[in-house]
Amino acid sequence: KPVKHAIGTTKIIAILNQKGGVGKSTTAINLSAALGELGKQVLLVDLDPQGNATSGLGIDKGQLEACIYDVIVSERPITDVIIPDVCDGLDIAPSTINLAGAEVELVSMMAREVRLKEAIGEMRGKYDYIFIDCPPSLGLLTVNALVAADKLLIPIQCEFYALEGVTKLLDSMKRVKNYLNPSLDIFGVLLTMSDRRTTLSKQVASEVRKYFPKTVFEVEIPRTVKISEAPSYGMPITQYDPNGKGALAYKTLAQEVIRRG
Ligand code: ADP
Repeated sequence: KPVKHAIGTTKIIAILNQKGGVGKSTTAINLSAALGELGKQVLLVDLDPQGNATSGLGIDKGQLEACIYDVIVSERPITDVIIPDVCDGLDIAPSTINLAGAEVELVSMMAREVRLKEAIGEMRGKYDYIFIDCPPSLGLLTVNALVAADKLLIPIQCEFYALEGVTKLLDSMKRVKNYLNPSLDIFGVLLTMSDRRTTLSKQVASEVRKYFPKTVFEVEIPRTVKISEAPSYGMPITQYDPNGKGALAYKTLAQEVIRRG
């Protein structure tokens, strides 16, 4: 793959919240694509057996001969499964439903927590950013992501019970930090599906900002119909509705991510 510009240090960021439906895959797709449009080289690793990031980028999972499952369980080189240039600057290591079996198969495997780290390690230096879209649980796949990642991006939906489960997530992070990945930390907390017109959304946002005083991104991702429609067209929001509010929010997020270094 020709490299467009010199890649500095690769940042590996896991997008994690064990709650489902908070905007992990949506953020994985749209943040990766927005960074790609800004000239960065990005790899998105889909670690969710539901494969929403894979299908949301227009890839037909039924046609795939191999996926990230084969990399983690059968030690196939990750370069075998990477689909290049799904968008400007963006490659994806896709997931299929096969990955659902990995959670159980990993239990009895050697080095079961470090398999993704080893697979991704060889990609350091080839990309500016590697994002890992995590499954909605704190099982072994997620532990693999926590071990492989340099930092975490935690999407939080502006809803009632937004912070529910966050303590558990932070406990998992601390455990992995203590035993397997000492430099693991939070890169940023992202408020998703916000609606500045409702009091609840505003209250939740301010509660989350109080809970994570330094790490919440300034930009909030608004709830928009276009963002929810884009995956069915296999496009990131920056292509599907390039001038809309959703695209603007994810582009602003991409700039904040770059500024955080
Ligand atoms: P997760 O990966 O955490 O399970 P998703 O990214 O799949 O969450 O989002 C859950 C649902 O909410 C999806 O149907 C998605 O299209 C929708 N969604 C996510 N973000 C937004 C948003 N900002 N505006 C409107 N719908 C959204």
